Amino acid sequence: MKKDYLVRGMVYQDYVRVFAVQMTETLEEIRKRLDTYPVVSAALGRTLAVSAMMGAMVKGEDRLSIVVKGDGPIGKILVDANGKGEVRGYVSNPHVEFPLNEKGKLDVRAAVGKEGTIIVTKDLGLKDPYQGSSPIVSGEIGEDFAYYFTVSEQIPSAVGVGVLVNPDYSIKSCGGFIFQVMPDTPEEVIAALERDISQIRPVSAMVNDGLTPEEMLKEITGQEAKILGELPIVFKCHCSRQRVESALISLGKEELQAMIDEENEAEIQCHFCNEKYHVSREELAKLINVKH
Ligand SMILES: [Zn+2]
Repeated sequence: MKKDYLVRGMVYQDYVRVFAVQMTETLEEIRKRLDTYPVVSAALGRTLAVSAMMGAMVKGEDRLSIVVKGDGPIGKILVDANGKGEVRGYVSNPHVEFPLNEKGKLDVRAAVGKEGTIIVTKDLGLKDPYQGSSPIVSGEIGEDFAYYFTVSEQIPSAVGVGVLVNPDYSIKSCGGFIFQVMPDTPEEVIAALERDISQIRPVSAMVNDGLTPEEMLKEITGQEAKILGELPIVFKCHCSRQRVESALISLGKEELQAMIDEENEAEIQCHFCNEKYHVSREELAKLINVKH
């Protein structure tokens, strides 16, 4: 199978904008780094799939971050993505377990929670970042983002995202789609889209069967989408020693001195990739003298 990638295009006589992604390997890379349990991999993977597709809605250097803050035991899901197909993410508590739900599926809703907020921040290179938010309406992630796009960005949308996890906790499949209805779309086109969407099988099953994003769109709509672009999807963390040092400097002299006195050194771990940065007493002392 081809590496992880997404496509963007148009369907239904160009009235509907579409995105579709398969990113099983990317989620597996993140699962290995963060040691997420199955229901957490599902919640995080669904959010990552949305973020990858939202990344394809912005320009190359532009970035966006998503926070899903529900009242479930996972805590906060935080992911970010950019226009180059680079994604990363983490959750407050990676070790959450639940029995399968009544449909025999991972109970994402129980883990995420049924109440809370989705916050999307887009850094589009302008003076101020764009921020939009909406309440969690289902806790299953896909419906929550359909609601977000429709209410916060005023673009009627259908979102399907899915993850399958193997018995050994590795990722079996991860993928998704977003359909967005353009202004002045005739009623019958919207009705056709709604009918098609209501009849689909789970997106995780389509990815698991080896369907490419293009084939997934064809199965859902029964027609070839007009593909306008393709983007490889990869895990990439943007942490670095320099960023860790800048963060330490921003704590201020007193805080740094307290670290030296109490801990003698500092160990900073990146939430996104679990990389550890060790900062010695001597290095901390140097940072104190850097101009603030
Ligand atoms: Zn990192």
